[in-house]
Amino acid sequence: MKINENVKFGKGKKKQNVWVDILGKVTQYVGNELIGSNFSNCEIKIKFSKMQSGQYGVSNFKIGENTHKDNKFNFEISDDVSFNMMVLAICHEMIHVSQVYRGDLEFLSDTVAKWKNKEIQISKNNTSGNKNLEIDVYKNFPWEIEAHGNEEKLMLLVSKEFKDYRIKNYEFLGNLFE
Ligand SMILES: [Zn+2]
Repeated sequence: MKINENVKFGKGKKKQNVWVDILGKVTQYVGNELIGSNFSNCEIKIKFSKMQSGQYGVSNFKIGENTHKDNKFNFEISDDVSFNMMVLAICHEMIHVSQVYRGDLEFLSDTVAKWKNKEIQISKNNTSGNKNLEIDVYKNFPWEIEAHGNEEKLMLLVSKEFKDYRIKNYEFLGNLFE
């Protein structure tokens, strides 16, 4: 298996550092699946962060960065979820990376995104204070529909690809991916 030189991790706790090797390889594999051999031109940095419950990952696609022009992508995954959820979060965020990489998704400002040449308001101006409404809006963005629609398929590929590696190197993970 190729060494994951273009996937880097921010500092995590001891617990997360245990996962860095296999999560790096998973990210590399997912990147190759989504982007192909051009993935070797991308730089990925993953940070473990505290998140609210129910949230597993977040992409830091800042304006002017993380565009298909510089091929550098940062995202965060929760530091307090199971290993499988970390993998699912990586699958999800890497789908967003591939969307930006292929030029379908771009963030023009804090309030406007561009999806396949169409501008979409992403403003969080929700004055009703209704959290469910916010989640509904979020889930209906086309890039989220694509990510949520494909993350499990990707996870299944990962589980097949890494089964032997996991058994050999991470026996303590128990029934990971099963
Ligand atoms: Zn998403």
